[in-house]
Amino acid sequence: MIVGGWRPARVSSVEEATPSARVLRLDVEDWPGSDAGQHVDIRLTAEDGYQAERSYSLGSYGPGPVIELAVDEIPDGEVSPYLVRDVLPGDELEVKGPLGGYFVWRAGGEGPVQLIAGGSGIVPLMAMARAARDAAAAASFRLLYSVRRPEDAIYRDELEESAHDGGVAVTWAFTREAPAGWTGRVGRLDDEAIRAAVWPTDDAPTVFVCGPTGFVEHVADALVRLGHPPARVKTERFGGA
Ligand SMILES: Cc1cc2nc3c(=O)[nH]c(=O)nc-3n(C[C@H](O)[C@H](O)[C@H](O)COP(=O)(O)OP(=O)(O)OC[C@H]3O[C@@H](n4cnc5c(N)ncnc54)[C@H](O)[C@@H]3O)c2cc1C
Repeated sequence: MIVGGWRPARVSSVEEATPSARVLRLDVEDWPGSDAGQHVDIRLTAEDGYQAERSYSLGSYGPGPVIELAVDEIPDGEVSPYLVRDVLPGDELEVKGPLGGYFVWRAGGEGPVQLIAGGSGIVPLMAMARAARDAAAAASFRLLYSVRRPEDAIYRDELEESAHDGGVAVTWAFTREAPAGWTGRVGRLDDEAIRAAVWPTDDAPTVFVCGPTGFVEHVADALVRLGHPPARVKTERFGGA
């Protein structure tokens, strides 16, 4: 039963995505479907009635009833360690959504589109990349994905195959450690790395930036310095420093 917008959901599968992240699939009662880029609120209720709510982006898009989340564990966090370590197929929780109408991409939207993700910020951008591939629009998309090290990339296998599969082309950036044979730089994205990877300003891309708050602010400031109009830079902040 849906009460106050909260829909009962049952965990249908859990899959390790990185050493600290899991992909969760949830079967949601009467799920109305979602646009690529939207998120949900998840509510957990303990046996003593204590409740905790957090927002999670959808890696899936389109009609239901199964939605996909990818959760990265924040050490000492209240909710994410439970979702990453403890939750099992068959467990029940509650979902409110889909939420958000601004940070979304719909097929037929004007291209080109630049996606820029830091860490778990890949999740809503993955939904957009999947939607672009399915709409045969991937050629007008680019994705710049910044991770600490290769094994920290959520959806790594799918993204590595992406460009050969009719999917979105990916530029990787590594802040701590690169794969063997990497000849590029290792470190925080700087203006030059961003300029080199993203659609030129003359192409007037719509840019979606998502990740921890500090990452998003750093990248959005750089984009504006590089000449991208602020109105074309859409951001989603996941929290933290
Ligand atoms: C719209 C939206 C979509 C989101 N989508 C995702 C998603 O797809 N995947 C995902 O893993 N997370 C996502 N988040 C973040 C998520 O909502 C939680 O904030 C995160 O899981 C931490 O919750 P927690 O209860 O474990 O930590 P808390 O107990 O809430 O916080 C513990 C400490 O960690 C810090 N912190 C909180 N969030 C972050 C963060 N993202 N990075 C670094 N430090 C942080 C807090 O400031 C606090 O100091 C999203 C957030 C928003 C607003």
